[in-house]
Amino acid sequence: MIQLSEVSRSFSVGGQTVSALRNIDLSIAAGDYVSIMGPSGSGKSTLLNLLGLLDRPSSGTYKLDGGNVTALSDEQQARVRSEKIGFVFQSFHLVPRLSAAMNIELPLILAGIPVDERRRRVAQLLENYGLTERADHRPDQLSGGQRQRVAIARATSMHPSVLLADEPTGNLDQATGREVISLLEQLTEQQVTLILVTHDPVIGGRAKRQLHMVDGQIISQIES
Ligand code: ATP
Ligand code: MG
Repeated sequence: MIQLSEVSRSFSVGGQTVSALRNIDLSIAAGDYVSIMGPSGSGKSTLLNLLGLLDRPSSGTYKLDGGNVTALSDEQQARVRSEKIGFVFQSFHLVPRLSAAMNIELPLILAGIPVDERRRRVAQLLENYGLTERADHRPDQLSGGQRQRVAIARATSMHPSVLLADEPTGNLDQATGREVISLLEQLTEQQVTLILVTHDPVIGGRAKRQLHMVDGQIISQIES
């Protein structure tokens, strides 16, 4: 369960203040499928980064599963992030020098998972995402769709309860994009909360809840 109350985020650049998020109140239940749409600069990525504990609000509170995460130290937030949150980005953010398998294993190493369990999970994820034959390939030796599948495998390796995806199809052709969306949607069947930022109204329209942002605020919400 995600609960934001009166969350604002402003940035100051060269003496100017930019209000990227203004007084956001938002609750998202466990297992929900939410899309966030809106024009460029409306605050979608800023909101996703806050939800993913990659950034902190300037004011307001964020409760995750009842705990106030705004009050936690950076180290404590990193632990919550590792245990509960997966992130998928438009430009994949894979480590270029590491193989597909090593990219997927990385969060497990950082979390101190024993080697046998790590290898077992990586092999399973490679298989689930049709990447077994590509295990030893580096990101530059993979197609865009394969890279995003590695990124999804990595994001889910720690069994997160929340998966955040910022324009995950932005660098993919339409058919590959649809494939990636259906992989993400499969996760919601396992009670993962999926929050998806997209410019594509067809993709956004598939979500159970569709939020529309303008100028740092959620101006409308459709439930289907
Ligand atoms: P896009 O669809 O283009 O990705 P977005 O809705 O994701 O846009 P954000 O990246 O959240 O938009 O940006 C919201 C506003 O906050 C913009 O005006 C942007 O310039 C500003 N902003 C975002 N991050 C920073 C930062 N680190 N420093 C200063 N300003 C920022
Ligand atoms: Mg963005």
